Amino acid sequence: MSSSELDRLLADAEHLYRDLTFQSVRDWKRRTGGLAIGYMPVYVPREILHAQGCLPVGVLGGGEDLEIIRGDAFYQSYICHIPRSTIELGLNGALDCLDGMLFPATCDVIRNLSGMWRMQFPDKFVHYLDVPQDFDPQVGGTFYEHELQSIAAALAARGAKPLRDDALAASIAVFDTHRDAVEALYTLRREQPWKVPTHELYLLLRAGMLLPVEEHVPLLRRYRELVLADAARRPMDQARVLLTGSFCEQPPLGMIKTLERAGCYIVDDDFVPVHRWIRGRVARGGAPMRDLVGAFLESGVPSAIRYAEHGGKGDDVVARVRECGAEGVVFCAPSFCDPALLDQPMVVRAIERAGIPWTAFKYSENTGQFQVIREQAGTFADSIKLWSTV
Ligand code: SF4
Repeated sequence: MSSSELDRLLADAEHLYRDLTFQSVRDWKRRTGGLAIGYMPVYVPREILHAQGCLPVGVLGGGEDLEIIRGDAFYQSYICHIPRSTIELGLNGALDCLDGMLFPATCDVIRNLSGMWRMQFPDKFVHYLDVPQDFDPQVGGTFYEHELQSIAAALAARGAKPLRDDALAASIAVFDTHRDAVEALYTLRREQPWKVPTHELYLLLRAGMLLPVEEHVPLLRRYRELVLADAARRPMDQARVLLTGSFCEQPPLGMIKTLERAGCYIVDDDFVPVHRWIRGRVARGGAPMRDLVGAFLESGVPSAIRYAEHGGKGDDVVARVRECGAEGVVFCAPSFCDPALLDQPMVVRAIERAGIPWTAFKYSENTGQFQVIREQAGTFADSIKLWSTV
């Protein structure tokens, strides 16, 4: 086993994470001549883009390294950070390599951002991807299929391959393989969290925002092989926690490391959720487009941006806590993230009913001071180790 290979793999992933020029996307375009289509969190059906020969490119804001110069002028000072850093990336030319952007429906902020994008970049393809909140195939399914068909037609009009059933079926199969590879790492982390530190897993998830899926799957598999063979990774006396709320604007890498150093094993999370939005493989049996739509309707993960009937918010978090063997929940949401923070009281009620300890704090993608978070998370982890009966 080569720990230097592991170091190199992680260094490459971190390089991708920090590269605000999107050089890997530029290289891909030079090699293939294809269209690169950006997408915001939380979920877009990348299979459609892939089947049309496009590169799906996740745009998760500017993170901790970007200085905001013009982006602040577009948004009120109090709202979350990701829209202003995304605008900044657009205006400073970093996203020139993208031929278009998809803005999936998550909240009013993203809706507004899609309108601003249209005004700022009138020559680019821009689509606000409205997703159904009615999961009846005849209602939400028909609506969603129409959305996807209109994206496919617009991409074809801009030079992408027309969407064909056989290509879409093949792309669904490729992304099924990707879902398997991601899930294998989540499973390993759940079983042996000392083998898969979350700050490493997170870098790998972020690499999947930029790399073609055919390159990302071997990267995930190789990482798994390397850490399994690494005897130096041994268990420590850490508290197992489930982290929730970080599905859109992402926390800085330093914050994830801080939580781990404070004594937490993160054994489940909702970071970069596009990779896990569809649980398991896409059930096959109909036309590929219908299968993909059906997966969204029936196999999508519960989330703050997804309607749940009968006050069901929170039950899924309790179920996930049981499944991953967490001893506590950390609510970790971006400042002023409406969907995450509006859900939080309902989720708190559910986990308190279940007797699960929890703590909460907020962050911004460019938060730079972690001392308070370290103390809070450390105290939480200690209290679990000392007194928890979960
Ligand atoms: S962080 Fe929350 S409020 Fe901000 S854009 Fe994302 S979902 Fe919307």
